[in-house]
Amino acid sequence: MASRKNRSGKANRRSPKAPPGLFERLRLRAEPLFAWAAAHRWSAIAAGALLLFIVSVFGGYWIAERFELGDRNRAARDTLDDMKRSGASTPREREPEPKYARLEDLPEFPKYSEAEPGKPRATLDEKPRPKPPQVAAASAEQTWRRNALPFRDLGSRPLIAIVIDDVGLDRPRSRRAWELPGPLTMSFLPYAKDLRDQAKAARARGHELMLHLPMEPNGRNDPGPNALLVSLTDAELRQRTNAALDSFDGYVGANNHMGSRFTAFRPGMETVMRQFKSRGVMFLDSRTTAQSVGDQTAQEMGVPSIVRHVFLDDEETLEAVRRKLAEAEAVARRQGFAVAIGHPHDVTLQALAEWLPTVQGKGLALAPSSAVLRKRNGWE
Ligand SMILES: [Zn+2]
Repeated sequence: MASRKNRSGKANRRSPKAPPGLFERLRLRAEPLFAWAAAHRWSAIAAGALLLFIVSVFGGYWIAERFELGDRNRAARDTLDDMKRSGASTPREREPEPKYARLEDLPEFPKYSEAEPGKPRATLDEKPRPKPPQVAAASAEQTWRRNALPFRDLGSRPLIAIVIDDVGLDRPRSRRAWELPGPLTMSFLPYAKDLRDQAKAARARGHELMLHLPMEPNGRNDPGPNALLVSLTDAELRQRTNAALDSFDGYVGANNHMGSRFTAFRPGMETVMRQFKSRGVMFLDSRTTAQSVGDQTAQEMGVPSIVRHVFLDDEETLEAVRRKLAEAEAVARRQGFAVAIGHPHDVTLQALAEWLPTVQGKGLALAPSSAVLRKRNGWE
């Protein structure tokens, strides 16, 4: 009883003296500010507006920076996840996931080098062919013609087509490639991120587009996800070929990424060429192996095709690329046309930047791949 009385007495004594609540205290603190604001209304409004402006500028900047960073990291992680799912790399278990700003910085990002180190591939002239088929030129669906860069004057000068392979993965260097003066041919990998936007940008800069179709190589290089492999069934080959052909549009045709094993595999190449035929697209046989049956199969099946003559950057030095460009000039003078393939490497981009402005003066013409196709087959 006593304790109860005590407690209530205590409470009664305290209540009149209870310290003001938080809200009340704030109100007391803010009172001079309100008084000042009432006395200097316009200054208060100006000060408030200024404060709001400063906060929004810095806040906006901070938020934008957070978003951009998040975006880049997510893009890099997405690509890595895709590759893990398709078994393109061997994920290390239980390691904390580091953050990378650029795709190329990912440690498990495969290096898409097509050359065997120390084994540069020779420049190849064309062997005489039987009379080129006219069926392809007359076939109804000619997507390659619809998407070709306009090019006149096939006759007066030797043509050189420069094809840049592996475009779309290393985005800064890919952009540098299509910022070169054209017409060049940009061959995009189907698993590049934002493929359609990138391809559109390259086309807008006056370059022809190609699909860079991943195929199985000999040896241990990784062709990337969804490559065409000799072990796949016909249905799987059709499915993968069509998925790649659907990955973007506006291209004249496709060339093989790697593929030294697959392009030598006739049944597989026939399946692939059947899809090309029905789509009306052309094939550029990169000739990553001398055993490739790509061009021959294409010809037999009425798919318009050309072949690669020079690899520009198997040896990745400025001197070597310059030498290869000179070889491409020589092939073009001998045959009337030449196809040279390079990659978005620093040395290749630099050598091309020096060489491209000199082409006209040498009596040669820089041409899109479709122009070489027309010239090779004697088509208008
Ligand atoms: Zn490639």
